[in-house]
Amino acid sequence: MGESSPVTYKPYNRSSIKRAPQWELMPADLREAVDVVTHVLPFRTNQFVLDELIDWDRIPDDPIFRLNFPHRDMLDPEDYVTLRDLLRDGDKKLLAKQVQVVRGRMNPHPAGQLTHNVPQLDGEVVPGIQHKYGETVLFFPSAGQTCHAYCTFCFRWPQFVGEDDLHFAARDAEGLTAYLKQHPEVTDVLITGGDPLIMRTATLARYLEPLLAPELAHVQNIRIGTKAVGYWPRRFVSDVDADELLRLFERVVGAGKHLALMGHYNHPAELRPAIAQQALRRITGTGAVVRMQSPVLRHINDDPEAWRELWTQGVKLGAVPYYMFVERDTGARSYFELPLAEAYEIFRTAYGSVSGLSRTVRGPSMSAFPGKVLIDGVPTIRGEKVFALQFLQARQGDLVRRPFYAKFDPEATWFDQLVPAFGEPKFFFEDEADGGGSFLGRPLDLVGA
Ligand SMILES: *Cc1c(COP(=O)(O)O)cnc(C)c1O
Ligand code: SF4
Repeated sequence: MGESSPVTYKPYNRSSIKRAPQWELMPADLREAVDVVTHVLPFRTNQFVLDELIDWDRIPDDPIFRLNFPHRDMLDPEDYVTLRDLLRDGDKKLLAKQVQVVRGRMNPHPAGQLTHNVPQLDGEVVPGIQHKYGETVLFFPSAGQTCHAYCTFCFRWPQFVGEDDLHFAARDAEGLTAYLKQHPEVTDVLITGGDPLIMRTATLARYLEPLLAPELAHVQNIRIGTKAVGYWPRRFVSDVDADELLRLFERVVGAGKHLALMGHYNHPAELRPAIAQQALRRITGTGAVVRMQSPVLRHINDDPEAWRELWTQGVKLGAVPYYMFVERDTGARSYFELPLAEAYEIFRTAYGSVSGLSRTVRGPSMSAFPGKVLIDGVPTIRGEKVFALQFLQARQGDLVRRPFYAKFDPEATWFDQLVPAFGEPKFFFEDEADGGGSFLGRPLDLVGA
């Protein structure tokens, strides 16, 4: 057992948050924002986030407060006022209707998640898996499709407000293992959500253990995407089945697999609590590796110093910096987005201030339809200022790491806004892609926590 006594995980939602001791610390305008915005976007927090992560002397600017609590600017100002007034009038029907209208305007289905990358087995769709890049299969266990708290920027928000049906998620590992047996090229399985570590250990084991079978020796790496390391580190220390979870990690490692916890750390504040550090020690003690990834987000981590602290503290505590992403085009995107040029400057400044041990990180990277696109620099070539880009991952593997160039645009915030540099009519990969040139704006793909 860890040093803390077990505290049961219990989330707060829009109504129960009013019973949290911290509610009293929130001025009226912030409380109103919780009431109004949570009708559109999901809200969930927990006592650990409230007690250990948010600095209540610094609200509303505290980065974890921004990460977890809705802000009025996350909605269009007119929508906010309309919804607030409907809420005051108490007409539930009209309110519900308007909520639908507002959600519809927030690009709730950027991922085309139910229609793209969904693999088939003997002519049938295999539920709960996505296969976009040859070597890695994503797996969505149905019991892992929620989180210990919700991030206000999350692109999975429609799922949490019940807009997306969760039938795509898998109730067991049978489909996955059958699919993997037919796909010897797959070396990695990434279990994702939501947050798979919302599951009790016994449930998680039912999904994980079949992957250790001798027929699946080609699956070398098992990754678990999780934000429990930040939002609920007690999961690894003092939850009733925390020790059992660590024993499960040890079994996976003992079976000869590389086990990676893809830890979503958005801000260094998540590494400061003693229990968060203890969680890292306990996880790495099992032989699992923790890697760190996050999008770069206005109001939360749009500051090189935040990244410098995150990466250097991470390395010191045993977590490996992995990806810096660009925020996706859904939900409250306009509140969080940064021009690509600015994201790149933040990355470069932070990267330049850390030792080589932190420079395992890559970014800023956009998960776009053709692949993960890295912004590699802003050079001037033959008198033209451009973005130097390359694929870190691509649907067509042979596109990876071939440099290409887009016209510099100081305002651009996403890949679909970029045009080829040097007056060229299209990007090099547009010839080769299925269907030709018009797919930049097509749906993205998803990875949850
Ligand atoms: C990011 C991602 C992966 C994993 O890519 P790595 O570069 O190996 O971390 C796998 N599948 C999808 C759909 C992804 O977006
Ligand atoms: S899926 Fe990840 S980003 Fe989204 S709310 Fe859960 S923890 Fe946050």
